[in-house]
Amino acid sequence: MKIVRTIGELRLEGEVGLVPTMGGLHAGHVALIRAAREENDVVVASLFVNPAQFSDPDDLAAYPRDERRDSRLAAAAGVDVLFPPSVAELYPPGFGTWVDVESTGAEGVARPGHFRGVATVCLKLFNIVRPRRAYFGQKDAQQVSVVRRLVRDLDLDLQIRVVPTVRDPDGLALSSRNARLSPDERQRALGIQRALRAAAPQADPVAAARAELNGLDPDYVELVELGGATVLATAVRIGSTRLIDNVLVKGVLS
Ligand code: AMP
Repeated sequence: MKIVRTIGELRLEGEVGLVPTMGGLHAGHVALIRAAREENDVVVASLFVNPAQFSDPDDLAAYPRDERRDSRLAAAAGVDVLFPPSVAELYPPGFGTWVDVESTGAEGVARPGHFRGVATVCLKLFNIVRPRRAYFGQKDAQQVSVVRRLVRDLDLDLQIRVVPTVRDPDGLALSSRNARLSPDERQRALGIQRALRAAAPQADPVAAARAELNGLDPDYVELVELGGATVLATAVRIGSTRLIDNVLVKGVLS
């Protein structure tokens, strides 16, 4: 695996699959990398904690960063080129162009500016890497719908692939943020997917999930369309950690 830190040094040939990540790699990222490995000649993973998508400076500062561990995991999973650019490489002095995707749903309302940062960095990565396909996780369902709209609205020439959420054996969706949960908080966090699973088959999944999540005080509960699939999504704060999750209500992810 090559590690390339600058845009100028990235030289790629053949069909490229891109897996954008912020590091803290876990089995969820590995599933995205494996999916990219199956469908492309070259697999590029980016490793970039994108300051533009954080509104809380403490959250940005606390985000796990361990490039050596991440590069070991990326190489073992089958990445050909790891792209860990510096902040100055992607946002040089004088940077001032932003991509705003409308209708970002409840997650967008809960995190003002978040999807502007996501859409901007994704468009930059798509232009830098020129992938044929880019891989995103179902766990961040609204991110998928924002990126799909970006691709459609700006006529970008790539496919967006969605990979099902990878969970720990107890059902908790893997997230780089799980490391911050105490054992007791982790037990409470298990209630999120239990509630979503119980609610998904009901006549009114949103109302059912609100009832099931009673006590966890979700930021929102909503249905998100992922193009051919609908998921039931929520965000819950457990202690100081904000967790998101969703389950499939109908359709097929692709
Ligand atoms: P992140 O590094 O958290 O920005 O995530 C990078 C990509 O991995 C995003 O497309 C996420 O949706 C995806 N991802 C994160 N957690 C999981 C998971 N548990 N299962 C599948 N994909 C995931």
